[in-house]
Amino acid sequence: MNDSHRAVFATAFIASASACTVSENTEQSTNNAPAYVIELSDTTPAQASVRLTLPKNSGAPTEWKLYSRAAQMNVNSQVQDVRCDDARIAKADDDSWPVPAGCAVINWTVDFVSSAETSPGDQQSAVMPSGWRVFSSPSSLLRLSPAPSALATVTIIDKKSPPTIRKLPADSAPPAYFVIGAAPLLRAAANDVTLNYAGEDLETVTAYVSPQEHLKGIEYFKSILGEEKSRETPELTVVWYGVSRERHEISGAAGYDTMLANYILEQDNPSAAEFYRPFVLVLHEQFHQISLLPAPIWAGESLAQYFALKAAKKILPEIAAVQEIYAQEINGPLDAGPGLLTIQQQIMNGDYRNYSLLYTRGAKFWSAIDTAIANASGGAASLDDYLPAIGALDIDAKATELPVAFFNALSIVDESELKALASAYL
Ligand SMILES: [Zn+2]
Repeated sequence: MNDSHRAVFATAFIASASACTVSENTEQSTNNAPAYVIELSDTTPAQASVRLTLPKNSGAPTEWKLYSRAAQMNVNSQVQDVRCDDARIAKADDDSWPVPAGCAVINWTVDFVSSAETSPGDQQSAVMPSGWRVFSSPSSLLRLSPAPSALATVTIIDKKSPPTIRKLPADSAPPAYFVIGAAPLLRAAANDVTLNYAGEDLETVTAYVSPQEHLKGIEYFKSILGEEKSRETPELTVVWYGVSRERHEISGAAGYDTMLANYILEQDNPSAAEFYRPFVLVLHEQFHQISLLPAPIWAGESLAQYFALKAAKKILPEIAAVQEIYAQEINGPLDAGPGLLTIQQQIMNGDYRNYSLLYTRGAKFWSAIDTAIANASGGAASLDDYLPAIGALDIDAKATELPVAFFNALSIVDESELKALASAYL
């Protein structure tokens, strides 16, 4: 699996579900909150126009700057033609757009790409074959600096349906994806969580991934993370992209309450392994979405992949292909390549070439730790029991070795054994 999602987390909204309808005056900025309006028109269906009404401050005038989170999240920006009224705003040397004094409304455009030409991991705003869209905040929304004191609202105006309005999570939170238009939807619910699947061919998707089984994964992750470290999201959405096999990529992105994921089109006759990959993928993204554990990228990705595999194996014990995927990833040969902490340093220097090893090598590392815990406890305990303690370590992203606290937290296992695993994988 090439989960090319690099943003550690992301957020999303679904405009069509549970959003309140705006009856009037959709553009008025309330108090000190920035207000975005994303508008689609019939005349330029491949383009959205975005307007941002700046917060009204009572004190001294603020010197606003606009910036994109695209580079930080390693995605391509889709923001074009940034203007205040009719005057174009030039980009400054620090990659921000300085807002001219006295300017109240900024606007820009976003060109949608075809979903066939992109991958969920690229987090681009895209048009699906039947015309509904995904609007991706990391590539397509500009943020304000200094950060406004109130959460922004986002109003979506699509001529085909009533306007909807939502809150945009804080700048530090995962980014948002909005589903716009008449996406085919499937809903399932369990334990106070409603799960929406949006996709062109949900019949094919649900042959791969059943929302009921996905809900079991959510329950498992909540049980091991504990209440304090689980994000409470009563309503979750997965946007499914169909891709042809020749694209050769299964990828995803996790959001605050929405995930993006793909599957191989039915016309390509997916193999049994290809058939169940999306289930592991969506569990991986689901782990990111739900986990509030602070972790450097190496730990976040490797834990997401290990627990996705573990959950898939638990939930579908009868499916040989799932057991094979697990065995292949966990028991297969260790990739030649740098250790996880070295890859972390490379990523922090903008070098993503070994990113996928965080999944393969990382899942093997946690599986070895899991086995060591089971052996040391005579089968009474597992990594599941130690996940909150590992999360509480707050491992430094720049660290070139594991902190002493890691060995203390897992003192059930001999330190020499843990050190041997650390040197083999990290
Ligand atoms: Zn991931």
